[in-house]
Amino acid sequence: FKNLSTLHSRNPPNKKSDKPPHKSSAKRDALLHFRKTLPIWPHAQQIRKSLSTKDVLLLVGETGSGKSTQIPQFLLSESWCTKCIAVTQPRRVAAISLARRVAEEMGSQLGMPWSTVGYSVRFDHCAGPSTRIKYLTEGMLLQEMLRDPELKQYSAVVVDEVHERSVNVDMIMGFLRALVTRDRGKRKANPLKVAVMSATADMEGLTKFFDDGYAALEKSEDDLENVKSRMEDETRTVSSSKAGQPQQQADDNKPFEESKHISTCFIEGRQYPVKIVYLPEPTLDIVEAALKSVFQIHYKEPLPGDILVFLTGQETVESLERLVNEFALSMGPEIPKILALPLFAALPQASQQKIFQRTPPKTRKVIISTNIAETSVTVPGVRYVVDSGKAKIKQFSNRLGLDSLLVKPISQSSATQRKGRAGREAAGQCYRLYTETSYTEMQKASTPEILRCDLSSAILTMKARGINDVVNFPFLDRPSMDAFAKALLQLYQLGTLNDDGGINETGRQLAKLPLTPMLGRIIVEAAKPERDCLVDVIDIIAALSVESIFLNLATEEKKERAEEARKELLRREGDHLTMLAAVRGYAAEQSDRRAWAEKYFVSHRAMQNVMNIRKQLRAQCKQLSLLPSTSLDDPTTSTSTSMSEDHTNAILQCILRGFPVNSARLMPDGSYKTLPGNQAVAIHPSSVLFGRKVEAIVFSEFVFTSKSYARGVSAVRLGWVDEVLGG
Ligand code: ADP
Repeated sequence: FKNLSTLHSRNPPNKKSDKPPHKSSAKRDALLHFRKTLPIWPHAQQIRKSLSTKDVLLLVGETGSGKSTQIPQFLLSESWCTKCIAVTQPRRVAAISLARRVAEEMGSQLGMPWSTVGYSVRFDHCAGPSTRIKYLTEGMLLQEMLRDPELKQYSAVVVDEVHERSVNVDMIMGFLRALVTRDRGKRKANPLKVAVMSATADMEGLTKFFDDGYAALEKSEDDLENVKSRMEDETRTVSSSKAGQPQQQADDNKPFEESKHISTCFIEGRQYPVKIVYLPEPTLDIVEAALKSVFQIHYKEPLPGDILVFLTGQETVESLERLVNEFALSMGPEIPKILALPLFAALPQASQQKIFQRTPPKTRKVIISTNIAETSVTVPGVRYVVDSGKAKIKQFSNRLGLDSLLVKPISQSSATQRKGRAGREAAGQCYRLYTETSYTEMQKASTPEILRCDLSSAILTMKARGINDVVNFPFLDRPSMDAFAKALLQLYQLGTLNDDGGINETGRQLAKLPLTPMLGRIIVEAAKPERDCLVDVIDIIAALSVESIFLNLATEEKKERAEEARKELLRREGDHLTMLAAVRGYAAEQSDRRAWAEKYFVSHRAMQNVMNIRKQLRAQCKQLSLLPSTSLDDPTTSTSTSMSEDHTNAILQCILRGFPVNSARLMPDGSYKTLPGNQAVAIHPSSVLFGRKVEAIVFSEFVFTSKSYARGVSAVRLGWVDEVLGG
């Protein structure tokens, strides 16, 4: 087995491989040949040089130009790069698939103690002491920063997909700016190098952001010099009026040299023309419209040419997948086959990898994706894009005071990105499932998440890192004072802050958990001796962490059958305990879990994820001493389906402790109104409490479609709500 290519001569050799050496190296040669064709390849020298002379590189390159896979490999052989390179990704799918790809390109493997490439995403770590390139989600890097604020284990951090402007990436940018400017001295011997990469060009804003950091640093250094020189003047007491002058001038009107500290690089992408087809009339049913377009393309257009469909979320993706498969059954033998492949964040890794596999002969791949495929994942072979024009986005609802997932029109810049996916390898076509007028009415660019979401998680992270003055943190875009106030109030209500606004012990514990402060608070509450229900609460949180454990059924007949089959799992207390019953039932099944899932119309795929998350959460709780380290080693622990009323009450009270503002009371007219806020909210039809009247409810999710719905609902006592809100 040959060592890595000369580019990576300092990497440890691959000691073991289950493939014959010649086959592996032939594959790597082929990959190297492919890498050399990527638009980024000719820029390798420039990129290396720029980071050897400066600490910050800003790089703009179209999706697919090779940024995420190649840049870390270019940097690895630089003399300053003695430690690991972190590459952040907004999504776990991308982190894992990039790690896999780069490992392959480097002739390495994932998950071995000697692996050069690794990844770290929430609930899944695959990195060791030999890891030199680590793909990790933004949230994971923030978690690592809590333990290692100066990122001493890294030589470089590559911030990828900064254009997505997640709250986490904004936080990372603020921390990194401080590390390369104000705190640079703390890593004197080995200053941190930062590469920031974007698929869309807001180079100006990013340059200004870093320039401001350097300017502030220079100003404070100048100020320090001034103070020193003034002190020297005074001690000398010489009547030299000139002595202080040059310094004074420099302080007042020192011109700041643009980008003195920052390198920039533009990579022109490869883009073939893409023909756009709009709908003549708006459609209400995007799944149906997408189905039509897929078959229209399939019948009309020659092979090769795969189709990439952009839908809104797991539910729409899975329902189109089912419909495509059903319709494909009725195609004549002369029509090429269709291979429908879903792609969404919660999809298990192995299924995600299928999109990269070569399309079988006489077959057309139809990849049905959420906006993951917009910039995070490059799917080869695509010539046709079907764009629903919508995406599920997180947005803070001022009315309810919490984040909710809303299906909203995308921005023009997202629509352009989606369209671009069709023209990477040849001329393509993009079917927009909206009218041209709707396009012109779309927002030009998407609003950064930090300006539309709940800030409580971000603020807790900052406070846990010792930043108390959160308002003056260097934000790329500063949120409104109102947003800060709301988040601080929420953190206070969760019992994570002291009266002076400083973080307390509960807050510190929460910051260490890879969960939102709300879910984290439930965990901490459940660990209290008087509650003693952490094991169950972990199961519920694991189930809440995937999109839905219950299959969403298309036909009435199936719905009825599912209702009958699921009866055994239903709990009158509501959805959370029903989820718990399902998780316990699945976990208790020792022989055939797939058959168990089918019997109860539960998603086997989602449950596999739940089991993994549950395992990770248990390990994390043991680490934080919330769970005794010896418990739960027996796989059958906590799978019994019966429990006392006191115990279920304890679980519900913990959920309420994490979601105090997501509570509502029954009104005399039979509707529910939130407490506090007094806003109408209806129980979602998917809830086991739908149509039931209970004195109060707590809910873990808020969705807004035709009206405000509470999803993930449990019945609670009004007295408990008063207690939580009062205390
Ligand atoms: P960028 O970051 O500029 O979007 P990438 O470095 O992610 O580009 O990808 C460059 C090319 O490498 C893609 O166009 C694709 O062909 C290929 N590629 C990336 N990831 C994978 C993967 N997991 N499997 C197969 N091919 C991949």
